[in-house]
Amino acid sequence: MLTREIPLEKLTSKYIYTMKIMKIKEIPTSQNNIESQIQESDLRWDKLYTFGRSCTIDSYTRSFDFKCTHNILFLNKMLFKWNMVASPLCSFCKQEEENILHLFSKCSYVKDLWSQLNEIITVQLPPITPKSAFFGYPNSSKLINHIHLIFRIAVYKRRSLSICNVQHILNKIKNAKKIEENSSFTTLFLRERYTTKGWSTSNTSKV
Ligand SMILES: [Zn+2]
Repeated sequence: MLTREIPLEKLTSKYIYTMKIMKIKEIPTSQNNIESQIQESDLRWDKLYTFGRSCTIDSYTRSFDFKCTHNILFLNKMLFKWNMVASPLCSFCKQEEENILHLFSKCSYVKDLWSQLNEIITVQLPPITPKSAFFGYPNSSKLINHIHLIFRIAVYKRRSLSICNVQHILNKIKNAKKIEENSSFTTLFLRERYTTKGWSTSNTSKV
């Protein structure tokens, strides 16, 4: 961005090009698409695009969050169009086309998994919704959002088996906790998130 006045004689083509580029403000097509899918508008896109990555230091998890918030996590519906899978239907329930909205908010199989998880961990999890399928819960704690991201990744990766159980998800959450806690670089970062609520290690069935 140009923040100072430039004398006309020094105005090079590069400056002019930069100024023109800065004026281009096209809304990404994914924003309209997501808004129509979740039937909400006037979303705080700046917050939604950045919140997920603040919940974890793991690069795969951050990249997964990016794909969800930009609607570019390609599931069976799209993969079928590209002849990469045999069916556009959901890998678990086989009832509807598989996209982010269905897999992470509508699928009865996945909703049941989320309920089971809620029963065995110490943190109270909010219900999954069309909005949380794409963005998680920007108004809830980072811990809840981290757990939700781990959950969505586990479900996503288990599609190939068409089966996923709550113990598998619980193990993934425990592993993530161990990795992030053991990183001295993130000690402060974690202290802020994990000391208020959750992550109980006293009972092996809890996280
Ligand atoms: Zn389904």
